[in-house]
Amino acid sequence: MQPISRRTFLASSAAVMLAACSNDQQAAPSTTAPSGTAAATTAATPTTAATTTTTTVPQVELPGDPFTLGVSSGDPDVSTVVIWTRLAPDPLNGGGMPGDDVEVAWEISDTDDFATVVNSGRATATPAHGHSVHKVVELAPGTWFYRFLVGDYVSPVGRTIVPEAGVTETRFVTASCQNFEDGYWQAHTDIAAQQPDFVVFLGDFIYEGGAGDVSPESGNVRSHGTPEPTDLVAYRNRYALYRSQPELQASSAACPWMVIWDDHEVENNYASTIPQDPADTAGFAARRAEAYQAWWEHMPVRLDAPTGNADDEYRIYRANRWGELLGIALLDGRQYRDDQACGDVPLNLEPACPEALEPQRTMLGADQEAFVAATVGQQGTAWNVIAQQTVMSSLQLGEAIVNYDQWDGYSAARGRLTADLAARQVPNAVVLTGDIHAAGVGVVRNGAPGEAPIVAVEFVATSISSNGNIPEELEGAVQGFVDIIDAELVHRGYILHTVTTDQWRADYRIVTDAKNPDNPEVTTYQTYVVDNGSTEVRIGGQ
Ligand code: FE
Ligand code: CA
Repeated sequence: MQPISRRTFLASSAAVMLAACSNDQQAAPSTTAPSGTAAATTAATPTTAATTTTTTVPQVELPGDPFTLGVSSGDPDVSTVVIWTRLAPDPLNGGGMPGDDVEVAWEISDTDDFATVVNSGRATATPAHGHSVHKVVELAPGTWFYRFLVGDYVSPVGRTIVPEAGVTETRFVTASCQNFEDGYWQAHTDIAAQQPDFVVFLGDFIYEGGAGDVSPESGNVRSHGTPEPTDLVAYRNRYALYRSQPELQASSAACPWMVIWDDHEVENNYASTIPQDPADTAGFAARRAEAYQAWWEHMPVRLDAPTGNADDEYRIYRANRWGELLGIALLDGRQYRDDQACGDVPLNLEPACPEALEPQRTMLGADQEAFVAATVGQQGTAWNVIAQQTVMSSLQLGEAIVNYDQWDGYSAARGRLTADLAARQVPNAVVLTGDIHAAGVGVVRNGAPGEAPIVAVEFVATSISSNGNIPEELEGAVQGFVDIIDAELVHRGYILHTVTTDQWRADYRIVTDAKNPDNPEVTTYQTYVVDNGSTEVRIGGQ
């Protein structure tokens, strides 16, 4: 049922990412580790000063290839990066691993054929953590390749990048919202082909909906095939379904990722421990804790595992950076927020009810608000990025709030954030947003829409595959929001950002038809440029 067969995919431009993939039953023998010792050679001339090492592969009996979920890496700084995999010979049925700890070897090379292994070691995969592996490895700045080895199996090869502190240019992706049932993942294939320096994933990595029907009238192109997950094993199986797909494996292996979550990693539009449907309140905190653990197990994040305790916070907001070029605050707009106001009625054109305007309302919670103030503009970088979930530019129509789930529904909290940016005169602030399944460019003001000073430019990425939520007929209305510079509601895709010290350029990549697996076309819809020191967005780069 794969839209693109592995064999077809291997012929694509991203083939190098999966060249050593042991998932392929037809894989060449050279992709299987020799018993005891991997194919690390000491004869090749190292192209770096690093030492060539030989890896001893842990010997363990496994019921099948454990590397069905691919590999990824994430959260690099200037000397380390996290490399990730999860062992799952039976990925859709709990993983299929023995109930013991399993040792896994990892290797780093400066070439994708691993002719020279420059670093290697071991990590322990435990049943309590779904046999996931999160290993922080030390690396000099540059491009590196990594893989894992256990028993008779070698993982696919991942490419990762550790930035130079003095980096002056980068290309990176923002993406979000990859509903498996709604569409195919040409966008991921395109991301892999672009070979960006990194991906910032803004949430909705999975969708929690049950098994949708795939009748022609349904609009679904494929089905989750299983009921809505509510416990750890079911969430693991849902992540495994998504991570089993070759397009996502290719983009995940192409470069390091910086991942935050949105709502569907637990449940649509939940807020703190309040579910969308009040009928689900009993046990929701425990469900959320299990969902959070499954998220951690499947993400290449530099975070400790959550406790699993329903009463505990699980802090994922954090500060990353890409050398001295980009400071990147990665935020969590779901765990600490007040419930959506005024019944969360969408596209309501009546004046907002008083609840939405209450001054104590919060999107981030007090501690995270303090984190933003201590991070954004304080990292000594040319650009100051706020990577987060919901639209911060005003989408209000007069007194009406058309989407209470976005920052408009938390206007006091937005006001505190923008007042802080204004008071500290934070330069070159850029908000990167997902969630809304539409592409847009806006400006964030410290005060009244259309009037108050601009404190940040906002680039909203459309969804990888999730259906649009805003009727196409309303595109003109959305473009009419006074603080929205441009919007595109029809297509799926992502944003490819090219940033230098002098200029930010955002290329909006759109998938021609995400419902059609036979149409691989991805094009650039529009390019937007912002110069250092300016908040003017130039459409078309002109
Ligand atoms: Fe979404
Ligand atoms: Ca969402």
